[in-house]
Amino acid sequence: MKILAGIDIGNASTEVAIGKKDETGNVVFLSSSLVPTTGIKGTKENIHGIYNAFKKAIDKARIDIHQVDLVRINEAAPVIGDVAMETITETIITESTMIGHNPSTPGGIGIGVGKTVNITDLNSVKEGEDVIVLCDSAYSFEVIAKTINNYNERININAAILQKDDGVLVVNRLEKKIPIVDEVEFIDKVPLGMMAAVEVSEPGSVVDKLSNPYGIATYFGLDAEDTKKVVPIARALIGNRSAVVIKTPAGDVKERRIPAGKVIISGMRKEVEVPVEKGAEEIMKGIKSVSFIKDVKGEKGTNAGGMLERVKIVMAQLTNQDPKNITISDLLAVDTFIPQKVVGGLAGEFSQENAVGIAAMVKSDKLQMENIAKILSEKIGVKVVVGGVEADMAIMGALTTPGTKKPLAIIDMGAGSTDASIMKTDGQVTSIHLAGAGNMVTMLINTELGLDDKDLAEDIKKYPLAKVESLFHIRHENGTVEFFDNQLSPDILFKVVIVKEGEFVPLNKEDSLERIKNIRRDAKKKVFVNNAIRALEGVSPTDNIRGIEFVVLVGGSALDFEIPQLVTDELSKYGIVAGKANIRGIEGPRNAVATGLVLSSEEL
Ligand code: ADP
Ligand code: MG
Repeated sequence: MKILAGIDIGNASTEVAIGKKDETGNVVFLSSSLVPTTGIKGTKENIHGIYNAFKKAIDKARIDIHQVDLVRINEAAPVIGDVAMETITETIITESTMIGHNPSTPGGIGIGVGKTVNITDLNSVKEGEDVIVLCDSAYSFEVIAKTINNYNERININAAILQKDDGVLVVNRLEKKIPIVDEVEFIDKVPLGMMAAVEVSEPGSVVDKLSNPYGIATYFGLDAEDTKKVVPIARALIGNRSAVVIKTPAGDVKERRIPAGKVIISGMRKEVEVPVEKGAEEIMKGIKSVSFIKDVKGEKGTNAGGMLERVKIVMAQLTNQDPKNITISDLLAVDTFIPQKVVGGLAGEFSQENAVGIAAMVKSDKLQMENIAKILSEKIGVKVVVGGVEADMAIMGALTTPGTKKPLAIIDMGAGSTDASIMKTDGQVTSIHLAGAGNMVTMLINTELGLDDKDLAEDIKKYPLAKVESLFHIRHENGTVEFFDNQLSPDILFKVVIVKEGEFVPLNKEDSLERIKNIRRDAKKKVFVNNAIRALEGVSPTDNIRGIEFVVLVGGSALDFEIPQLVTDELSKYGIVAGKANIRGIEGPRNAVATGLVLSSEEL
């Protein structure tokens, strides 16, 4: 009887399985454990985490370290992932068109159209004319309301733009309610005597006339050519509760493509160049057209160059190598967007700029694992060997899932990479490592929501949302309502919260629950659905993934409450049966590699 430990050192987690092997080769598992990986995978900083995970599993198995005959660590797939982002559009306002202003409490509801006129000049407006009145901070809400009420006999004041945050106070005092946009900081820059439209929607909903190019065309009487030009305006207004559009003769809102440089993909036989501003799809076409990627570089002196260079430098530092020796072996690009301040805006307007998110994978040094094995062995006084290839081990482990048999394909969805392997009936394994996994999803959520808080983004990724509708009930994102006997904290009232292990974490953002949920799901789809297909294409014995029958999903991201469903859904379109693994019938999608390391040991 021999006791063995399998240790899988991943980008994010270090996992251990302990098993007892009898003379006939039968293995009984005693325990398992998981701790966060310390340091970058494949470096000696891992030792600390490895030791803790090992000790934890040993204690659980109620044995002593010296009873262990052999430790097998994974021949860690020599890949490390990193993520980066590049903005590729910029919205610029020339002259004084205002767009997308989103004050927290606009007044009134509906849309008003008319010529812009200062509150001091209402006298000179012709009878019966349609106007929008501008009021700077010198005027109190009482004076503004009274003035509008007085003039309404003679002219049509259809909307108002205020400098102060008094929209609601003014509307409450009006005889005829109009939409009012307030908190316009640079009101003196709003051009006078121009046609404008002001739209305010009900609380909880968003503008729908000015966020539609044809809506704008209707109010300003635009022809087809001019309607094309207002598309960036309409786009910038999507998702806002209130909006103002002003038509000036020369004023214009432009969407500019920012030249971000090219990515240069070098393969065995050819080299492909794609300008980053063409977007993710083009970049991925380039990646696909090169069958074996030797390296990916960015054009020198451009943002793309800087972005890929940074990834390489970080990797080089972490793995103690010369950046020159670091090559990128895969790259996943996805289209994304970043909320950004509009250049030339009048009220601190934000616009969702297009961006490209990139996950890159770098080959690191295999030797480091041997080094780790040596240090670990000295530390614990047990023989430590570098066991089989990570992907082979993962599939051995995955095959312990009840209901699986060879041929089987697995997709290992980790933090830095998505790995796939397929084992044929004769036991032969083919595998592939792709850039982009859990970390990239977190990055996309972080930037698209403008959070600047990775931990919060990670929580948004992992847990469902709810809206606190009263002090005694919440509505979960799936629509179910939950009531509470004890009053909830007033701090979270009316907020969108993350339902994290029974705790409600409030999000201090204006974004609606629907929007956050959509961004979250889209980020998961962009990364994992794309990569699942790419991964299976990479290992499929035929040139069509339909030949693959069964796929199990393993790794930390397979624990996600929606990623496995999204992948299963997509793969079902190809007639593939896919689902979450349940390693050894008890571990769920975790512990595949560690389990495989124990099962495949031939040293004893
Ligand atoms: P690696 O093999 O690279 O160490 P893991 O298999 O441990 O990676 O997976 C880590 C990834 O899994 C991280 O991106 C993490 O956010 C994600 N993850 C872990 N637990 C969950 C969970 N409960 N729901 C969703 N994602 C999770
Ligand atoms: Mg892993």
